[in-house]
Amino acid sequence: MFEYQHIDSEGNSIDLPVGKIVCVGRNYLQHINELDNAVPSAPLLFIKPTTALCELGQSVVIPKNLGPCHNELEIAVLIKKPLSKVTSQEVAAAIWGIGLGLDLTLRDVQTALKKQGHPWERAKAFDLSCPMSQFVDVNKVENFTDLDFSLHVNNELRQLGNSQDMLFSIVELLANISNTFTLLPGDIVMTGTPKGVAPLAVGDALNIELKAHFSIETDVV
Ligand code: ZN
Repeated sequence: MFEYQHIDSEGNSIDLPVGKIVCVGRNYLQHINELDNAVPSAPLLFIKPTTALCELGQSVVIPKNLGPCHNELEIAVLIKKPLSKVTSQEVAAAIWGIGLGLDLTLRDVQTALKKQGHPWERAKAFDLSCPMSQFVDVNKVENFTDLDFSLHVNNELRQLGNSQDMLFSIVELLANISNTFTLLPGDIVMTGTPKGVAPLAVGDALNIELKAHFSIETDVV
């Protein structure tokens, strides 16, 4: 049964519906290079359905027998007010808060789809493909352009990111996205992953941290 709800830093549910997840691909140069992709001239967008969401603090479930499932740890932005065709200046008032999400990716499936020119949903939008942290109230976030976050797998650093390394900033992304998809209260925007994508394995212990805000221990099953 689908039970996800957005939660705040105290673990209380946030009074917003659960909406779509708009994801950004190729937003960190070093990650673009590690997969040998081209640098986009506009944000690369795709969508995950609500059924992709689950709570990150519970075990991360990876699909079996479909090839490697990669970690992509990303800053997630929870939307509280409708955003449609807005400018960067109008974005800030629509943000509820900031969290971290995993954009789980079946890499071999994605590579095969890319070769055929097909959409990526089978590789990225499957059930439970978007484990999501709690959200930190935007009033407690000092600077969107200097957020440090990290993923450790079995106590080894795998991904280390800072939002200042984004090709398109959080505010630029939301304004740009709102010109294609209206963002509604309860929607989430995933802002791209830094370098360090690699396969997760059953039994891996994960530590996921948004510096100065929270640290989550979970595992892979
Ligand atoms: Zn991603």
